[in-house]
Amino acid sequence: MNVSVVLFTSDLRVHDHPPLRAALGRGHEVVPLFVRDPAVARAGHGAPNRDAFLADCLADLDTGLRERGGRLVVRSGDPVAEVGAVVREADADDVHMAAGCSGFSRRREDRLRRALEADGRRLYVHDAVVTALPTGAVTPDGSDHYAVFTPYFRRWSRERLREPLAAPRVVRTPRDIRSEDLPARTDVPTVSEGLADGGEQEGRRRLAAWLARGVDAYEEGHDDLAGDATSRLSPYLHFGAVSATEAVHRARSRGGAGAEAFVRQLCWRDFHHQVLAARPDAAADDYRTRHDHWRRGKEADADLRAWREGRTGYPVVDAAMRQLAHEGWMHNRGRLLTASFLTKTLYIDWREGARHFLDLLVDGDVANNQLNWQWMAGTGTDSRPNRVLNPVIQGKRYDPDGAYVRKWVPELAGLEGPAVHEPWKLPGLDRARYDYPDPMVELSDGLARFRQARGKDQGA
Ligand SMILES: Cc1cc2nc3c(=O)[nH]c(=O)nc-3n(C[C@H](O)[C@H](O)[C@H](O)COP(=O)(O)OP(=O)(O)OC[C@H]3O[C@@H](n4cnc5c(N)ncnc54)[C@H](O)[C@@H]3O)c2cc1C
Repeated sequence: MNVSVVLFTSDLRVHDHPPLRAALGRGHEVVPLFVRDPAVARAGHGAPNRDAFLADCLADLDTGLRERGGRLVVRSGDPVAEVGAVVREADADDVHMAAGCSGFSRRREDRLRRALEADGRRLYVHDAVVTALPTGAVTPDGSDHYAVFTPYFRRWSRERLREPLAAPRVVRTPRDIRSEDLPARTDVPTVSEGLADGGEQEGRRRLAAWLARGVDAYEEGHDDLAGDATSRLSPYLHFGAVSATEAVHRARSRGGAGAEAFVRQLCWRDFHHQVLAARPDAAADDYRTRHDHWRRGKEADADLRAWREGRTGYPVVDAAMRQLAHEGWMHNRGRLLTASFLTKTLYIDWREGARHFLDLLVDGDVANNQLNWQWMAGTGTDSRPNRVLNPVIQGKRYDPDGAYVRKWVPELAGLEGPAVHEPWKLPGLDRARYDYPDPMVELSDGLARFRQARGKDQGA
C-alpha cells in the first residue's frame, strides 16, 4: 500500500485538517508525525507554558488518531532529517504539511522540499490550515500585503473561505514506524499555576460553549478586564487545536453582533500573519522605523524588571503583568496597556516586552505577539503611532469597579471601588497601610520624554 507522511506543526487536530484529508483521500496509509525541533528553543522560542500545553495537544492528537485506528509518531531533531528518516522507513511517496508564515517555517519548508525532491518524493504544502484565509490570497494594488487593517478586513470579509472538513473516520498507520514517548505536561518544570489544559477536545469544547453562551456578550464585554468575557481560544488557535477556518464558519452561522465582532478579531489574526509572511524581518526589526533611541542601561534595566514583576506602582499594569505570570495568558486590554506603558511611558524597546511575553504566553506567537507589540509601540501598522494609553484612565474605564486589580494585586484588596486605581491619593496614614509601591514614574514625565523622542499626537 502507498504511504504518505503528514507532518503536523501548528495544526494539532484531526478535525478540519486538509493535509490529513488529502493524504487519506489518495487511499494512502498515513504516518502522522510531529518533530520536536531543538532549534525552536535555541532560537529563544521555547517556553515552559507552551511546552506544557503542547504536551497536552500531542497527547490529545494521539488519542484522536488512535480512535480512528492510527497513532501519532513523535521524533526529536532537525525536522528535515527526521522527516527524511521516517519517509525512508515507511517508504512514503509524499509528505503533506500546512503552510507556515514565519521566516523560520518558510525556511523549513524550502529545505524539506529540496531534500524530498532530491530523494524522488514530493512535498505538498496546504494553505488555509493555520490561518482562515491563505496569507497572500488578497493583496492591495501595488503591494504584496495589506499594511492597514480596515481595508484588509473589508476585503477578507468578501472572500470565500474553504469549507471545514470533517475528521476522518479511519486513519491507517503502518505498524513498524518507531515513535518516541510522547512528552508529558508533568515533565515540564516551572509552568504557570493557572495554565489552561491543552488539546483539541478541550479546544472544541470551549469553542462550542463560547458560541452557545459567551459570544453574544462579546461586543459589549470584550474590554471588561474583570468580566473576562473573551473566548480564551487563543492558545488553541495558536497550536491549531482549533481551526481558524472552522471558528469563522461556525461564528458566522451563529450570527449576531457578538459573533461578528469575534470574527473581526479572527481577521486580526490573519492580518498579522499576512504581514509577517510578506515581511518576515518584522519578527525582530521595526516594521516602520520611528528612529527610536530606546532607553538602555542600568536605570532602564531596573524599570524593565519592575514592569516584568508587576511592581510599577500603577495597579492595572501590575495586575495584568501578574495575570500573565499566573496564567500564562493576559486579557487583550491588559496586553495593550502594559505594552503602551513599557514602550511609551517607560520608553523601553518593544523587543524587550515581546521577549518577556513570549517567555510566558501560552498563545505566544511570532506573528501576533511581535506585530501587536509593534502596533502598540508605533513601529508597526497603527495609523496613530504616537498614541499613549494612560494606565489610570484605562484602569477606570475598563475595570471601573477595580475588581480586576483587587484579584491580581492582593496588597490592594482592602481598597474599595475605583480608588484602587490611585492608591497614592490616599491620605498618609491610610496609604501606609498598603504595602504597595509608589508609581515608578510620573505619567506626565513619561509622556514628555516620549513626545520629545517621537513628536506630537497623543490619546487616552
Ligand atoms: C502586546 C500584545 C501582544 C499579543 N500577543 C499575542 C500572542 O502572542 N498570541 C496571540 O494569539 N495573540 C496575541 N495578542 C492578541 C490578543 O491580545 C490575544 O489574541 C487575545 O487577548 C487572546 O484572548 P482570546 O482568545 O480570549 O481573544 P478573543 O477576544 O476571544 O479573540 C478571538 C481570537 O481572535 C484573535 N485575536 C484577537 N485579538 C487579536 C489581535 N489583536 N491580534 C491578533 N489576533 C487577535 C486570537 O486568535 C483570539 O483567540 C497580543 C496583543 C497585544 C496587544
